[in-house]
Amino acid sequence: MELVDGKKLLAKVKLELKSEVQKMAHSNLRPPHLSAILVGDDPASKTYINAKIKSCEEIGFNSSVFKYSENVSETELLNKIHEINQSKEIDGLIVQLPLPKHINSDFITHSIDYKKDVDGFHPINMGRMVLGLDCFVPATPFGIMSLLEEYNIETSGKSCLVIGRSHIVGTPVSILMSRNKKRANSTVTLAHSKTKNLTSLTKEADIIIAAIGIPHFIKDTMVKKGCVIIDVGIHRVPSDKTKSGYRLVGDVDFDKVKEKVSFITPVPGGVGPMTIASLLKNTLFSAKKIIYSRT
Ligand code: NAD
Repeated sequence: MELVDGKKLLAKVKLELKSEVQKMAHSNLRPPHLSAILVGDDPASKTYINAKIKSCEEIGFNSSVFKYSENVSETELLNKIHEINQSKEIDGLIVQLPLPKHINSDFITHSIDYKKDVDGFHPINMGRMVLGLDCFVPATPFGIMSLLEEYNIETSGKSCLVIGRSHIVGTPVSILMSRNKKRANSTVTLAHSKTKNLTSLTKEADIIIAAIGIPHFIKDTMVKKGCVIIDVGIHRVPSDKTKSGYRLVGDVDFDKVKEKVSFITPVPGGVGPMTIASLLKNTLFSAKKIIYSRT
């Protein structure tokens, strides 16, 4: 079994991006700037935003976070998004999800200028991705594809089972895995909550991408020997062995499943860091377009 180490690949991506920022500085160009909107006090959301901002600082990107209370109005958020859309100094904008129930998340994320939508959630980016055109590929699926590339994992002609059909992970990664590209070309099945006999599908799959949102859902008895496991799930479960009182686990029963597979992503340290790597790459991509269009 080989561990697919997203933390290690994120460190490599950071070095590459840091050197890009230095090259831009030598040409008297400002660094890329990522902005984030954070609503409410959800500890997990705060942790994710902090990790993204810390990564920006490490590689020399500018960053800013706009924090709002849980009862912020949709109009207030839209006004801020509109202001950032107009800014010539900000290249990428993300809105940390989930948002409170009174806010329409789709409406908010779709109001981000698609040219600054570094999370890749905007319908224009999604549509362009489907057509294989230049776009911001959704950050988590982009990270998964980068891991498969880095670890030289064969995907062509393989059966790939994606479990979960969310707009941010399952659906886009199923499209990316089925594209006519070297690190894709898989025969993809997209399973979801209404799928019958899921275990018969998991047992046949060469590659399983689990984005279900249920801790330890995939058991060792459900997978075939030598398969590849990409675990997108991330959950805080109570633990008396950590200072925080919780530990992070994925959708896969890692300790048992790892004994049977050829490659597996750990949680934490697998897909999560790659979501950050993709965000940073997308922000640089955006910055270059914005800055170079003005020079
Ligand atoms: P979601 O809740 O939007 O979607 C879950 C999907 O799982 C749904 O499509 C549903 O049909 C399917 N599902 C639910 N129960 C099922 C069952 N019994 N059998 C088969 N399918 C079932 O989830 P999401 O936003 O895609 O996130 C999934 C997980 O990935 C969550 O744990 C989330 O926290 C995590 N996540 C991690 C990252 C990262 O960077 N590591 C990024 C995004 C999401």
